[in-house]
Amino acid sequence: MKLQITGGKWWDFRAARTAGLWLVFFCLACNAAVELEPEPTSTFSYNPDLALVNIAAGHFRDFQVIHAPDPVFTVAWEINGVDVGFGPRFRYLPATTRVDTLTAIATWENHTDRRTWLVDSMYDLATNVEFSPTADLMDIVTGDTCRFFAESSRAPLSTYLWELGGEPVGTGASYLLNSSKTGIDTLRATVVTPDHTISRLWDLRVFEADQLPPLPPTDFFVQPGAAPATVETFWRVAAPRGEPIIGYEIGISYTGPLDNSNWQSAILLGETPTVPGQEIYLAAFADTINGLIPGAHAWLGIRSINQTGIRSLNLPNMEVDITRPWWATGVVRDDAGVALADVTVRTTTSTFTTQTEADGTFRIGPFRSIDYITLRTETLDIMPDGEETGAWTDILSGPLFFGQSQHWDCVLLTMYRLDSTCTTYAGSFPAFLRGLTHTERDTDLRPNQNLYKWESYPVTVWVPDYISPENYDYGVRCRQVVAMWNETMDEDYLTLVSDPADASIVFRFGDDGNATLGKTSLLEPSGRNYILGDIIPEKVEVYVRDRLNTVQFVQEVAMHELGHALGLVRHVACADGDYLMYLSPAGMLDDGVENAINPDERHALRLVRALPQGYDMSLLR
Ligand SMILES: [Zn+2]
Repeated sequence: MKLQITGGKWWDFRAARTAGLWLVFFCLACNAAVELEPEPTSTFSYNPDLALVNIAAGHFRDFQVIHAPDPVFTVAWEINGVDVGFGPRFRYLPATTRVDTLTAIATWENHTDRRTWLVDSMYDLATNVEFSPTADLMDIVTGDTCRFFAESSRAPLSTYLWELGGEPVGTGASYLLNSSKTGIDTLRATVVTPDHTISRLWDLRVFEADQLPPLPPTDFFVQPGAAPATVETFWRVAAPRGEPIIGYEIGISYTGPLDNSNWQSAILLGETPTVPGQEIYLAAFADTINGLIPGAHAWLGIRSINQTGIRSLNLPNMEVDITRPWWATGVVRDDAGVALADVTVRTTTSTFTTQTEADGTFRIGPFRSIDYITLRTETLDIMPDGEETGAWTDILSGPLFFGQSQHWDCVLLTMYRLDSTCTTYAGSFPAFLRGLTHTERDTDLRPNQNLYKWESYPVTVWVPDYISPENYDYGVRCRQVVAMWNETMDEDYLTLVSDPADASIVFRFGDDGNATLGKTSLLEPSGRNYILGDIIPEKVEVYVRDRLNTVQFVQEVAMHELGHALGLVRHVACADGDYLMYLSPAGMLDDGVENAINPDERHALRLVRALPQGYDMSLLR
């Protein structure tokens, strides 16, 4: 039996031998012949001998393990921990992943060694050549020298060519420019990598020392000013170069970007002197002072000026639209259409405020053409003690903006006290109104809280002639209800017509075979299952069941349904308070027609009529 001793164990034995006794003990213990020969040096080497291997896109790379002195050994290869092959060589073909871990596990006898590479298989050598200086444009003073470099930390560069003004001037890894004549020139570097030929061009400007222009300021920024037809500019002080900078001049062009060649045609807006120690500068310009053209698109450029009067050559430019001024106008009326004077109208930010004139009109501004504003009224919104009215529900306008939405017809709603027996709406009349008009939230088919009501009043009604099975004259009784509505509202809300084709509201009597006593349905617009409140109504049907057992009840049901048809599309949530629009109107006419409709309902209906079509009820506060 021959005992193979690895390098590591060999050292153990040497240590044991120096101890003498241990060697004997070991030999007795293993009961074997031990050949103690010098261990041959086992050396694995690897190619490439780099931890990170870059493979240009579309290429492959061979990896190799070499073992000395015995060429008989095994190697297992893994990519990202997965077996991919055996043998001393492995050809790596770029995979879908960008970076892989490639591992070689080499074994000679019972001696194992591992080597891991990171392989970047989408590496593009072309992008990894660095040229310096990095600026594209170099301002150089005659007599000064400037060294240009092309280098790559990741790939050998084999060939260089430097050309000045198109003429070859060098083939080294760098080029030292020593310019003696002033003027404009170009320097081109061309280098060759294993995969690409790459070129880089610098523009050179050579000046006499006293003619070197200052650098332009940095971070030049232009924006519309806070007032209409103004602009604000900001910039950071220019880095020093050559003679000290004494100021900055700003020019404007309405035809295109400014540069050295067209600066003469620019309109000079102003000059800002430098202040020692100041880093950030700002300057503002206006139509009235600087002749800015409202509504124009403009380019502003800036130059530094040094104390010998030389201006920076590169021109930072910023584009801006010069805003126009506009005013919001409007009329404030109450819900009866009466113009209201001395109502305060403000922007919601309170920057602007005004009062209405005697005829209710107002004009507020000027705003900038880029501004979106919201106005609000400010009136007495708490009722004086003991009064039933006198205050208003202040409202917000929708968004107002230049050009298309500069006018606000504002309707202030009379603030009413809710019936004290009704506590459901927290005593808020606007809440009551929105509840009854179903505008307190979006509906399934109405993605807003707008009030959609009849386009015109009085609304036409057609009631057919009809005698019920119990011999009640439904036609006559329901036509009376139309008159009762108008009487109670003290204004014609409804008007009878003799042709159903002319009517917006049509009555239908009969028995639908269920317990429903009355029902108001939207007939038109049709097609999307709209319900009342979803959309501007065009045709509505009022159904009254023909089995009602008293004339009064017929009229109560008809009156209630007409309330729905007129715009109180939902029921009042208060059981007390004698509301016609409570779930059941039974008994509402017990105390006479003048007491059938609660004042809250009358107020609500009057506001529905007074408010503009599509009024955004969420504006009510
Ligand atoms: Zn109802």
